[in-house]
Amino acid sequence: MNQAEALYHLQEIELGVLRARKRLQEIAAALANSETVQSAQTQVANARKTLTPLQTKARDLDLEIQSTIQKARATEQHLYSGQVKNPKEMQDMQQEIQSLNKRHGELENHLLEMMVAAEEGEAALHEAEATLTGVTAEWESQHQELLDEKKTLEKQASQLLEQRKTALTQVEPGSQKIYDALKPKKNYHAVALLNGSSCSMCGVDQTMAIEREARQGQKLVYCENCGRILVYRS
Ligand SMILES: [Zn+2]
Repeated sequence: MNQAEALYHLQEIELGVLRARKRLQEIAAALANSETVQSAQTQVANARKTLTPLQTKARDLDLEIQSTIQKARATEQHLYSGQVKNPKEMQDMQQEIQSLNKRHGELENHLLEMMVAAEEGEAALHEAEATLTGVTAEWESQHQELLDEKKTLEKQASQLLEQRKTALTQVEPGSQKIYDALKPKKNYHAVALLNGSSCSMCGVDQTMAIEREARQGQKLVYCENCGRILVYRS
């Protein structure tokens, strides 16, 4: 393995590490982001917030109806018990019974409205809950896939770092210095392949002399155009 080949091998490993790290970052972001689930949770909470006061109101109305019925019944019993003799008092009691019956009717209507509204609220809540269950299950399955992928990538990255150590033993200090200086300028692609007579990164044709030197691999040669180290691959 000549120096250009050794550097190319090193670059391939380093690019592999970079790809793994980039994907690990994406996974970390995806795992932290559960917007869909949060939004479904909000929907459920809102549906509950709408429904609860309706149910409370319906219960209150029902109690009020029961108490109105009892009051009317008690007044009736009293009226027809024979204990009340005073006509004015009897008339008052009859009026009270009438007004209680009227109130009872109003309360029943109101209760009916509340019950219809509560039923609609319940249906909305059930729908929101079903959506939440669905998106949660979906998120969990994705979550599991991502966790599995994360595990694989972490293993891959650590294997690549081991390979990098081995690859570095093939690189001479002088070559490494050149490579390290080029790397940041060339976005981690300091080495390009010589494809026929052209540079694989910029596509520019090289002179016969450069091509020959790259083939020989005795020393590092550079692309005339982009300045990358050229490696000849037979
Ligand atoms: Zn080039």
